[in-house]
Amino acid sequence: MIFDENELLGGEKLKKLQLERLQKTVRNVYDNVTFYKKSFDKKGIKPEDIKSLEDLAKLPFTVKQDLRDNYPYGMFTVPIEKIVRIHASSGTTGKPTVCGYTKNDIKTWSIIMARVFAAAGVTKNDIVQNAYGYGLFTGGLGAHYGAEELGAAVVPISGGNTKKQIQLLEDFGSNCLTCTPSFALYLYDIGREAGVDFAKLPLRVAILGAEPWSEGMRKEIEEKLSIDAINLYGLSEIIGPGVSFECIEEKNGMHISDDHFIAEIIDPATGEQLPYGSKGELVITTITKEAFPLIRYRTKDITVLSKPTKCSCGRNFTKMTRITGRSDDMLIIRGVNVFPSQIEDVITKFRSLAGHYQLVIKRVERLDTLTVEVEVINEFARSIGTVVMADGTEALAVTHEKVEALKQNLKKDIKDLIGVTTDVKLFMPKTLPRFEGKAKRVIDNRVI
Ligand code: ADP
Ligand code: ZN
Repeated sequence: MIFDENELLGGEKLKKLQLERLQKTVRNVYDNVTFYKKSFDKKGIKPEDIKSLEDLAKLPFTVKQDLRDNYPYGMFTVPIEKIVRIHASSGTTGKPTVCGYTKNDIKTWSIIMARVFAAAGVTKNDIVQNAYGYGLFTGGLGAHYGAEELGAAVVPISGGNTKKQIQLLEDFGSNCLTCTPSFALYLYDIGREAGVDFAKLPLRVAILGAEPWSEGMRKEIEEKLSIDAINLYGLSEIIGPGVSFECIEEKNGMHISDDHFIAEIIDPATGEQLPYGSKGELVITTITKEAFPLIRYRTKDITVLSKPTKCSCGRNFTKMTRITGRSDDMLIIRGVNVFPSQIEDVITKFRSLAGHYQLVIKRVERLDTLTVEVEVINEFARSIGTVVMADGTEALAVTHEKVEALKQNLKKDIKDLIGVTTDVKLFMPKTLPRFEGKAKRVIDNRVI
């Protein structure tokens, strides 16, 4: 289903609207954000040089580091009195990426998210159980405002709280569930244990995103929960969830709201623009945001764009495929963005730990677990003693209270910085793999 008329735009009309909006945005950032003025001037580009959509390629890229360099409000085009909401997502080090919204921005985002629900067949008669996390993370409030804009009844339960989620699915008769795909399967497992028959629940559709998933996982979710599972993509910097979404008619590729975002695909190594059908890094320019517009933002997400054609849902918008990877090393652990460098920063602050570490990720009972494996320094190992194992190797006396304290302290500092609970395993010096070239720090054993 369609939420608003603009969703039917296509062809020259859409292009004309995109160009007008792009020109306005470029003028806005040039006049109001020092970073953009500097980066455009460096390339010798003025806002009036943007005469066609093709001219977009002349503009410089924006990357996460630029947002960090201008922390917290340096990328905003308006004074704080015009801002009504601030969200943040994790950055590559301690500092988060800050995203500001004016009243109009919140309205725009609500409409974009209402489209997501409409495209999934949700109507104002439905009850939406919103299990995306509320807070600094954009997932919860983004879905909340979108469902309200559509007129559906929102149950703002937020993430976690699995038993309650199941009770409400049954008692409130929720028709639509919004959460991460891994949480949907986790809910199923817990529900089954409690004897819930999902086929009998009024639940009809789940709108799932915020982490990578696969067609196999879609099939599993749809079969187990007896629902349609719809893919939803977004990132805080661009607006939050809603950048692209599937329609229930096709469930094949996610429509990008072309009237709000201009998408490009580039070769991540060279920055060169690639034609439709090529796999590469998604770059997005926002053309309606007021407070925090972004020009050619490198999402680091790998996907393929297809040429806009009419879809059976009625939309003409560009489609993108599932995200198939990242062009950087960002991990998504239980929906939280984690950069290995953040964990490395914590490790290096401990004098008893050596710089050799690896991160092992598994999916245990539907949930991601991250184990930090790290070597202690020789002095530490000697000071607490070692034991000889059956195979003749020497191991740390793990029962020693100093070992336990070190593990707990590392765990706590990581949790404080990135908000994710980890397991820690300490290793004897020189027992973790060494690398001649680039170190392989991440062992991702998740099957999704
Ligand atoms: P959000 O609040 O939407 O999770 P973040 O900025 O915290 O936004 O994280 C955004 C990142 O999450 C994206 O750049 C992408 O890597 C990942 N992501 C979001 N939705 C999906 C999806 N449907 N499929 C795969 N990855 C996704
Ligand atoms: Zn469609």
